[in-house]
Amino acid sequence: MIDVKTAFLLWVIQAGTLAVLLIAIWLHARDQRHFLWFGVGFGLQALGLGMVGLRDQIPDFISIQVGNVISLLGFICWGTALCAFDGRRPPPYVAAPAVIWILANLVPALRTEMGYRMAIYDVAAAAGLVTLGIIALTGTFSTRRYRIMLAIVWFLQAGSCLVFAYISTRLMPRSFNEMTLAVAVSIVGLICFVTAITLIAKMMMDRSEERLQELVRTDPLTGAFNRRGFTEAYLGLVDTSPSGAIGLIIFDLDHFKQVNDVYGHQVGDAVLLEFAAICKSLLPQRAAFGRTGGEEFAAVLAINEARDAALFAETVRLALAEREIRTDTGTIYVTTSIGIAIATIANADLDRMMAQADSALYAAKAQGRNRTAVKSGATVVTVPPARNDSVDDQADRQVAILKRIAAVGNNLDN
Ligand code: GH3
Ligand code: MG
Ligand code: MG
Repeated sequence: MIDVKTAFLLWVIQAGTLAVLLIAIWLHARDQRHFLWFGVGFGLQALGLGMVGLRDQIPDFISIQVGNVISLLGFICWGTALCAFDGRRPPPYVAAPAVIWILANLVPALRTEMGYRMAIYDVAAAAGLVTLGIIALTGTFSTRRYRIMLAIVWFLQAGSCLVFAYISTRLMPRSFNEMTLAVAVSIVGLICFVTAITLIAKMMMDRSEERLQELVRTDPLTGAFNRRGFTEAYLGLVDTSPSGAIGLIIFDLDHFKQVNDVYGHQVGDAVLLEFAAICKSLLPQRAAFGRTGGEEFAAVLAINEARDAALFAETVRLALAEREIRTDTGTIYVTTSIGIAIATIANADLDRMMAQADSALYAAKAQGRNRTAVKSGATVVTVPPARNDSVDDQADRQVAILKRIAAVGNNLDN
């Protein structure tokens, strides 16, 4: 059996290595704070247990009281890491282990007996492990199955700590070497520890894979879907719509080359961002939006009838036309032309609908831009773009748009 000092050394090396590794990972991915918190947690544990292992070589107060509390502070970091993984704030009870240790050490009868101190440390660690288990159970990271497995492992480990605490109070050892019986219990804890680390590593790998997949589907400038992401979203929408129709809407900003030429590429980019934000904010449920080309965007909507798609398109068109875009040389306004294709769910085909929406878009451009055209059967119907009425609020605006759509309404449903 290895002696206790060697066991402490091994634990310090192990926790220290994990700390260095995790902090190094964080340095390469600063936005993923959970790596930092996990790393700092292991760093504190390595430092604290190192101080405990130096018993008789450094002052007792530093080795015992300070060393143990530093080690238990690690639980605050691990709890924070799990919460960061989930994008939420840690609950205050992550501090329970350190608080238990400090409070119990204020009682002289407990502080002066090694057996009690070991029991207190293990009760505090058990509280920390239960805390981590609760955070895992109530979290939303990874899958429910993995979170339950992780919680079970931590609850088991907490159980082994409590058994260890019980043995300490029965044996009341005067030195670590009298605790040989507890080594068997420590092995259970060690197995739990390795299992928990493996599970967390798997969760982190899954998360990285998800982020990678998201990047592959996202347009970096606007954060909207790129063409690939949009195609997947379209297929998803068609698959999950049992009946009804699908509207495919394509937007092409008007005279965008001029915006770039006159105001510069940066203003052009700002316009693209502004347009994507408008579209995303107005997008109804059961719909997707993406950037399909330089200044071309597309939306797909599950609809009941053609006018639902036309209403959305017109709302976006007007919102953009009225949006003030500030540049160094003054405010500018940008417009978009819009082409729409409609198909029943049963007949929906993305390539064909794209081609149809494109021909409607072409008509909208040819008729003067800043308007919406709908491909309806073999013909293209353009929604009259003029707004003669003065419209102030959103409700009136919707009515006005619907009136204009209604003027061509019967032609839309051919
Ligand atoms: P139309 O009204 O006929 O659509 O004319 P247009 O000028 O919008 O069309 P055209 O296809 O001639 O020009 C599109 C321009 O979009 C050309 C290209 O420089 C610009 N563009 C494409 N991608 C980006 C981008 O990511 N950022 C910026 N700023 N400009 C882009
Ligand atoms: Mg274009
Ligand atoms: Mg254009």
